[in-house]
Amino acid sequence: MQQSPPAHPGMREQDVDTPALIVDMDALEANLDRMARLIAPTGAKLRAHAKTHKSPVIAHWQRARGAIGQCVQKVAEAEALIWGGVDNLLLSNQVVGSSKLARFVALSRMAEVAICVDDFRHVEALEAAASDAARRIDVLVEIDVGMDRCGVAPGAPAVELAQRIARSRHLRFKGLQAYHGGAQHLRTPQERESAIRATVAHTRHTLDALRAAGLACEIVGGAGTGTFEFELDSGIYTEIQAGSYCFMDADYARNHGGHAAGFAHALFVLTTVMSQTRPGRAVVDAGLKALAVDSGLPLVHGRDIRYIGASDEHGNLRWDAGAGAGAGLPGVDLGEKIRLIPGHCDPTVDRFDWYVGVRQGRVEAVWPVAARGAAY
Ligand code: PLP
Ligand code: MN
Repeated sequence: MQQSPPAHPGMREQDVDTPALIVDMDALEANLDRMARLIAPTGAKLRAHAKTHKSPVIAHWQRARGAIGQCVQKVAEAEALIWGGVDNLLLSNQVVGSSKLARFVALSRMAEVAICVDDFRHVEALEAAASDAARRIDVLVEIDVGMDRCGVAPGAPAVELAQRIARSRHLRFKGLQAYHGGAQHLRTPQERESAIRATVAHTRHTLDALRAAGLACEIVGGAGTGTFEFELDSGIYTEIQAGSYCFMDADYARNHGGHAAGFAHALFVLTTVMSQTRPGRAVVDAGLKALAVDSGLPLVHGRDIRYIGASDEHGNLRWDAGAGAGAGLPGVDLGEKIRLIPGHCDPTVDRFDWYVGVRQGRVEAVWPVAARGAAY
């Protein structure tokens, strides 16, 4: 059940109920502008990944800066975005189950949609769903370009699948999905570049094979926040699918150098010190139910304090009690509110019903995380 909003416009950030999902509006806008500026001269387009923000509102801000549409991972995410007005959407994933496919095909009446497959059985099921609804659906073949997750092998197997799509009456072969997730968080730009060099080679080889078979590829999609400049350099990607760039997180902050260093932290979990019984330590009200810790613990924003452990509803803070001027600095006291930088932005967003947009200490806007919990 959705909770009531933790804030209202005009309120000071310090008065917002916690834990709350805070968006720094200046930082978000700077990130959106920066990505638009980086992509504009390349000829490729941004199809931002909504798995990060789950919000048609942010999708519209991306669109206003030149993004051609959104990616999602789940049918329920697609519904939340399209019901919120998104008109061009790629489901960058495989979907199994006739009920889900019927829901996806129905969305093609409200928006331009496309979907990925990596198996003949996906093609058959999709053809049946599209035929039942008398629709024609755009389909991308996902190739495994190094991530070792979904995707058919590059080259001949991808061509066979594309031919099967092209022969299906209610499907249209639209192109390739070539995303390497494992490369995004390789720490050095050299490691990321080298991983994407192999990704590009697989993709180029598959494109050549498709061309030889007489199949045109209108879309070549992939790339994330950690690597997109390398996919752009290749000249073969038509669509960049970065998601996290709008918010960034503590794990992306651990990537060294490269373009991604230019994006700022725009997403925070505001938390209250709920217990402070001993020097150098405190407990805040944001634990596992407010923060995803799969990619590491959160960082305390702007303070020399460490978040050292999370349990369901508690977060443990530590600082050097000997430091500072004895007036409590650099520590925190009972009732104080501080910003945490989540370890991993996407699943953290999914833990909240509301975004609280803040500019210079004041709440400017409160809007729903529309696709929260959109798992099916
Ligand atoms: N494209 C696909 C298919 C993804 O699965 C993801 C993230 O997992 C992205 C793009 C976006 O990556 P990032 O959030 O690192 O920019
Ligand atoms: Mn992620």
